[in-house]
Amino acid sequence: MFESLSKRLEGIFSGLSGKGKLTEADVNEAMREVRLALLEADVNLRVVRQFVERVRAKAIGAEVLGSFSPAQQVLQIVHEELIDMLGGEGSQNRLDLGGPPPNVIMLVGLQGSGKTTTAAKLANYLRKEGQRPLLVAADMYRPAAVRQLQTLGKQLSIPVYAEPMGANPVDICVHAVDYAREQAASVVILDTAGRLNIDEQMMQEVIAIRKRVQPREVLLVADAMTGQEAVRVASDFNQAVALTGMILTKMDGDARGGAALSIRAVTGVPVKFLGVGEKTDALEPFYPDRLASRILG
Ligand code: GDP
Repeated sequence: MFESLSKRLEGIFSGLSGKGKLTEADVNEAMREVRLALLEADVNLRVVRQFVERVRAKAIGAEVLGSFSPAQQVLQIVHEELIDMLGGEGSQNRLDLGGPPPNVIMLVGLQGSGKTTTAAKLANYLRKEGQRPLLVAADMYRPAAVRQLQTLGKQLSIPVYAEPMGANPVDICVHAVDYAREQAASVVILDTAGRLNIDEQMMQEVIAIRKRVQPREVLLVADAMTGQEAVRVASDFNQAVALTGMILTKMDGDARGGAALSIRAVTGVPVKFLGVGEKTDALEPFYPDRLASRILG
């Protein structure tokens, strides 16, 4: 595995006493290590450059405080800047379900990203939060997706709205929201169609659903293991449907989390949840400080 950034920085600064100011030469050397650590974590090159400049500007001339070593001081600045770039500790990384019920959450994303599984996980999570979720099978291109969602719904005892194959996905979503009102469901989770690649027809369908249903949240489900590809997918979806957030799946794999930082920095779209396993309870709210620690290794 990679040596952690803190170890590497300790190495650079080992010649310095624990006191004084960080000099430009020390900081420049430290920034080389920071840059490497971020690249190893699969952060987008442009984002790495921006980030390193921000940290450099803050670090040069900074006082090395109290009991901190210079390495700890630089790490602290890196950590704070990472958290800031990941959206800080404010509410933007949380779901907004503040509209009149039923609040609609639309999930979009490519096939295989974990969208259907995530729909069930999210319903399970929200039910624990006191919501009454309704799942909607709106992926009409993959018959297995409808069955998969129905099976997951059954396991969790969460209702699933579905229509026969061939039904129009926009109509399904509209009918589902009506049904949710009748059933007094408080939140509706739409599992929309995903393809292996982004294509025009899929985008048009997603755009049409967004327009008709006016969801409170439009969340991209993206596979963290796909790294830089996920950045491109996020940019394309964001342009087409104005995402309100993102769920990064497969964070239980060995992805270091660079995709999360890159997507956030490139698109400005906040990460709201992480998928951390195949089971229906393997979903965690996103905490920037945890991801920052993970990226730094
Ligand atoms: P969809 O095509 O986007 O609807 O994807 P699915 O929901 O069918 O998921 C594709 C595969 O990814 C399945 O084998 C899921 O079990 C798996 N998967 C989904 N989320 C996660 C996750 O957070 N961690 C892991 N390890 N696997 C996941």
